[in-house]
Amino acid sequence: MQEPSQRQERLTPAEVTARIVQIVSQQETTKYCSKCQKHVLALRPGTSRFRQMLLTMITLGFWSIVWITDVVRRPGWRCSDCDQRVG
Ligand SMILES: [Zn+2]
Repeated sequence: MQEPSQRQERLTPAEVTARIVQIVSQQETTKYCSKCQKHVLALRPGTSRFRQMLLTMITLGFWSIVWITDVVRRPGWRCSDCDQRVG
């Protein structure tokens, strides 16, 4: 018999919402990690594509410049094992 290893922490509704948003918006894929020397699960924080697209439309395309800059600067995929940038 094993007891559940993780006990549910008490969170405020705002924290729960933030966590759900993070989980839902977080993207997963499989990438090759040069440090682990194997294919690993890679994670990337959500980019809120909908909001970016909305802003691009509102600003008649000007926001896309900010969007592209943001995409370039964004850390991107990270190895879920060692947290090194992958792919
Ligand atoms: Zn790794």
